[in-house]
Amino acid sequence: MSHIADNLLAVHARIEHAARNANRAPDSISLLAVSKTFPAADIRAAFAAGQRAFGENYVQESLAKIEALGDLRADMEWHFIGPLQSNKTRPVAEHFDWVHSVDRLKIAERLSEQRPDALPPLNVCLQVNVSGESSKSGVAPEEALALARAIAALPKLRLRGLMSIPEPASDQQAQREPHRRLRQLYETLRAQGIELDTLSMGMSGDLEAAVLEGATIVRIGTAIFGQRGYTH
Ligand SMILES: *Cc1c(COP(=O)(O)O)cnc(C)c1O
Repeated sequence: MSHIADNLLAVHARIEHAARNANRAPDSISLLAVSKTFPAADIRAAFAAGQRAFGENYVQESLAKIEALGDLRADMEWHFIGPLQSNKTRPVAEHFDWVHSVDRLKIAERLSEQRPDALPPLNVCLQVNVSGESSKSGVAPEEALALARAIAALPKLRLRGLMSIPEPASDQQAQREPHRRLRQLYETLRAQGIELDTLSMGMSGDLEAAVLEGATIVRIGTAIFGQRGYTH
């Protein structure tokens, strides 16, 4: 078995264990394999081991891989999770199934306009800055409701939920805090009538904390593919 197949088994075991501790059904949490910086061959190995949803951060790099894996396209889901500039929205609207990193209306409007009519609506999450000053991406929590309302009205987008990338913390209590704030915001938006079903939170280092706080998608890179070389 490839190391990637082994790693996927280990990550699924972590998800199941955390779900049990949280009294949640393991299949209420889906695994997004974050393949940025890794070659198409590694994605193919993960696919062979049963993984279907993949997350990418960089537009040019991801387009090359989506093309190289075109033979598998019908059975794969591609999620864009990186910072998105307005001059790069078109290929994302054309080639991805999800975007997790929408944090301003202009980007959402462009994605909706550029989404091809032949494709189903693009699934989007609002990226929320739940851990304050240090991170520049993400809408402020107090602005999330207005942005969610505006995005929910766009014809070729389907607003699914919220995403966050909190500051790393080493102990689980500290890790849970920003995840809890994201979940509370999610509940607040739902109580305001915004239909959402997705909380995209948790990475290799804080998967358990995220599952305990209600994550429905965990985004895992290192624990599946190994350490990144950071060529970007
Ligand atoms: C790289 C990345 C991940 C995966 O992080 P790991 O710590 O390698 O699991 C998850 N989410 C986003 C937005 C990322 O950029």
